Amino acid sequence: MPDSPQIAYGMTLDDWIEWMEERDQPKFRAKQVVEWLFEKRVSSFDEMTNLSRDLRDQLIGEFTIGLLPTVRLTGSQDTTRKFLFQLHDSRLIETVKIPANANFDGERSGRLTLCVSSQVGCAYDCKFCASGLAGFTRNLSAGEIVSQVMTAEHETGDKVRNIVFMGMGEPLANLTNLTRALTILNADWGMNLGARHMTVSTSGLAPQIEKLATIPMQIRLAISLHGATDGVRERIMPVNKKYSINRLFEALEVWFRHKKQMITFEYILIEGVNDSVEQAAILAKRVKSLHAKVNLIPYNTVEGLPWKRPDIPAQDAFLRVLSNANITATIRREKGHDIDAACGQLRLQEDEGLERPASSAQG
Ligand code: SAH
Repeated sequence: MPDSPQIAYGMTLDDWIEWMEERDQPKFRAKQVVEWLFEKRVSSFDEMTNLSRDLRDQLIGEFTIGLLPTVRLTGSQDTTRKFLFQLHDSRLIETVKIPANANFDGERSGRLTLCVSSQVGCAYDCKFCASGLAGFTRNLSAGEIVSQVMTAEHETGDKVRNIVFMGMGEPLANLTNLTRALTILNADWGMNLGARHMTVSTSGLAPQIEKLATIPMQIRLAISLHGATDGVRERIMPVNKKYSINRLFEALEVWFRHKKQMITFEYILIEGVNDSVEQAAILAKRVKSLHAKVNLIPYNTVEGLPWKRPDIPAQDAFLRVLSNANITATIRREKGHDIDAACGQLRLQEDEGLERPASSAQG
């Protein structure tokens, strides 16, 4: 059963069936509840008018629906919007909506993407990342993960097409709740989002990658690599001391065996840290050994942290090494307004739709 306090969005259909059976209610009531939640999108149990008064009162006594209060909303209808949501214990999380045609030459039509958080804070202490600065507070429940998507749709009236777990937190350090949330997001009785439209991004928790590989859903995997050798990676990502690059790649082979699907490497370019052409050459070799592609991300400056993005020629030189080695690699450069800055420290990455071949990357 999901975490307490119980959020209705965090219950699976099977949970509802069990809940109804325990109360001597017929099974079909479970189906009615999920229809009210995910199809009719009611925001209170009182609106579930085909349930008896008594049953509605029991639901009210045990659950909240899960719509989250928005403390702050930045951005406008046609740009990236960042929600600051408040949880029941007053903690705040960020969820970012990237509109269908924010920029990127209009390539993104119909591809509204939501970047969701998986934890309050983060324990992994990547040296360049703002999320870890305040340390780790707690895991989000499955309900709190699904609530971000439901609330974003409720508030904007838009339909989310893609979900990326690239907000606050390390999703694979919250594997049980993550898996439950993915199930609800994917289920036809739930949010009915295609598994291929959901990308889990990890700093490289090898054993958890192997576990996630076995769930029967074709979700996508993105790896925050950010260094091609242990020396470079360790300097900015302490997790590498626990799971070296070799260990990580073992896990990725397991993933590939199960999913037979392309893995994405995210590689932030940080000046003087990981942006040498030598790193690029080693990266190319590594990536070649797997069915994978690379998204290069010029670093977004974080206040209080010393790191900087390399200049454009250095970014291009890095990209060129990859494309010369026939690696599918793209570079994400903002045009017009800086949508990355708009979403603060959170790194937004859409698995599909942003990409163009390395040779035609914007210069
Ligand atoms: N913990 C997970 C998911 C959250 S971070 C992970 O590590 O993948 C999502 C992505 O944003 C990661 O690739 C992360 O390395 C990147 N990121 C963090 N801070 C950034 C910054 N200042 N500029 C660019 N990307 C950043």
